[in-house]
Amino acid sequence: MNNDELLRYSRHILLPQLDVEGQESIAGAHVLIVGLGGLGSPVALYLAASGVGRLTLVDDDVVEVSNLQRQIAHDQTTVGQSKVASAAARIAEMNAAVSVEAIQARADAAWLKATAADVSLIVDCSDNAAVRYAINDHCLDHDIPWVSGAAIAFSGQVAVFDPRVPGSPCYRCLYPALSDEALSCAESGILSPITGLIGSTQAVETLRLLTGFGTSQTGWLNTYDGLSGEWRRWRLNQRAGCDCQGRKSVTGK
Ligand SMILES: [Zn+2]
Repeated sequence: MNNDELLRYSRHILLPQLDVEGQESIAGAHVLIVGLGGLGSPVALYLAASGVGRLTLVDDDVVEVSNLQRQIAHDQTTVGQSKVASAAARIAEMNAAVSVEAIQARADAAWLKATAADVSLIVDCSDNAAVRYAINDHCLDHDIPWVSGAAIAFSGQVAVFDPRVPGSPCYRCLYPALSDEALSCAESGILSPITGLIGSTQAVETLRLLTGFGTSQTGWLNTYDGLSGEWRRWRLNQRAGCDCQGRKSVTGK
């Protein structure tokens, strides 16, 4: 780490749980962010500011005026652009040392298989249940930890999954089957900073996984209710009969 980097990341390095070693782990990471909307915006901006060395952004959408109420990686000048290009330009202004790949595509199973076998970690910021299942299955196949987030109306949730941890649950343990009931923000509305709260929590969990500070959140679901202001924490367990049960880790752990 050179002097410029020591200065830029000095407030991280001051944290004994991170130190230079933790910052180097962050710099050496390759994180895939799926979705550059309300959750992906704070995730991308905080991970870029934190000095994650390599970010791959994937989203098939373009910036619309109705996104600007909460999707803070975009602004009035980028309406009509792809969300990944808009976010990549913002990241470049914030931290030119971050290597950013912007891919306008839908992160389905085939795309993940072709593109995301060797990432350090995936942050799910999509608003699509099918994409979440595809990420889950891809991460199980390749032993990749991932941070799931969702936000709607006044509430949100964050869960951390890590197939490298023996006996830990997967997303299908929590939600065995695709539900048709999932509503979108376009249908239900969303209070703007709820996405910031949930996305920022996802960024914290990403940095925790990359550096190992504090207590592992693998297998925990954290939910936030903005009407009561209450955070709650739920222990997740493997579900009997889930495909993830009894599988051998790729890395043999
Ligand atoms: Zn499972």
